Amino acid sequence: MQRTKTSSSTSLSFKIFVGMVIGVILGLLSVNFHFEQIIKDWIVPWGTIFLRLLKFVAVPLVIASLIKGICGLKNVERLSRLGFKTLGIYIVTTVCAIIIGISAVLLIKPGNFISDEKSAEFIQQYEQPAATEASVSGNSVGPLQFIVDIVPENIISAASNNSKMLQIIFIAIIFGIAIIIIGEEKTKTFTKLIDDLNVIILKIIDFIMVFAPIGVLALMAGLTVNYSGEADVFKALGMYAATVIIALLFISFVFYPILIKLFSKKKIGNFIKAMLPVQLLAFSTSSSAATLPLTIESAEKNLGISNETASFVLPVGVTINMDGTSCYQAVAAIFMAQVLGLDLSFTQILIIIATTTISSIGTPGIPGGSIVMLMIVLNSVGIPPEGLALIMGVDRPLDMLRTVVNVTGDTTVACMMDNSKREMCDA
Ligand code: ASP
Repeated sequence: MQRTKTSSSTSLSFKIFVGMVIGVILGLLSVNFHFEQIIKDWIVPWGTIFLRLLKFVAVPLVIASLIKGICGLKNVERLSRLGFKTLGIYIVTTVCAIIIGISAVLLIKPGNFISDEKSAEFIQQYEQPAATEASVSGNSVGPLQFIVDIVPENIISAASNNSKMLQIIFIAIIFGIAIIIIGEEKTKTFTKLIDDLNVIILKIIDFIMVFAPIGVLALMAGLTVNYSGEADVFKALGMYAATVIIALLFISFVFYPILIKLFSKKKIGNFIKAMLPVQLLAFSTSSSAATLPLTIESAEKNLGISNETASFVLPVGVTINMDGTSCYQAVAAIFMAQVLGLDLSFTQILIIIATTTISSIGTPGIPGGSIVMLMIVLNSVGIPPEGLALIMGVDRPLDMLRTVVNVTGDTTVACMMDNSKREMCDA
């Protein structure tokens, strides 16, 4: 999943930022000059349409991108032990990043900056708090119920309900494994279909993102009208953004340097110097896929990583390893649960770790790529995805930062793999 439209994505970021600012200004003006109803009737529906568009691509995106991702793993197998080792390290670093995010959000509790009354209002607005959802289903909820819920009874009913996203993931994984076992020859028509579906969905996401500045404008105008005078909502949003930033900084300045120090022979100073231009490009494009050519070049030229390692580890990383993204998704999901006053159980936290890990495999390395995937995480633990409206407005700068962490994570693992490969060659 790679695209290289650096300049157009930069201008899109700018347009989304402008949309956000205009939305807030419009909202404030409407409150001051009492035309809130016009905003609610004529502007807010565009935000709802934007969210609906995101929701409608979620199921086909998961099916296409996960089956494609799993089928791609057969090449990894061909690349022997190093391939599996790379995958293993990618999964471990992703899980560590998620745990760092979860620790930060549980410690800082940004969602608790919202008053109880406001929280009750949100619950009413989004209508279906997770807790009631489980009880409405009528099943007795035993300790293994969450596993039972992952297994679908029927493909069509699973695909027709966004809240059954884990069942869709299950179906995609089973299909992917079956395809790998049957082999390329007998499944080429189907895999071609999935490839094409994937390209089509990415194009549709492109269209939706063109609409993003208007969608964000409408969402922000609606948010400002609903919560003007309610400083706690904006304070909670600010704390949420700060939590994501703190977790991302910890990953970049503590977690990765420890990995470099312990598992590679590179000097941390050299690593930081080599990463700077790559990080700047990732920051300004919000796309790890667009940054990939520079990531590879810098890894080889400035860090002395062998071409064989860089050209395998980094492209695989762009597709399946997104530490910044998965950390952010975990923070966002738990923040929304806090805002809605939902107490997440230990099992639900484990489900968040599992779904964010899986969703980082399916997230395309493009601006805003993880927004659709975040729906999957939210649905998996019964958090109403409408809550997304709350965080969409501040998503842009956070996207830039998490993309920086995504590319830094890929290069960190490339350094570790280069070392391990040399050790294997020396042995
Ligand atoms: N923009 C991110 C990337 O390209 C993906 C995301 O988190 O939205 O790596």
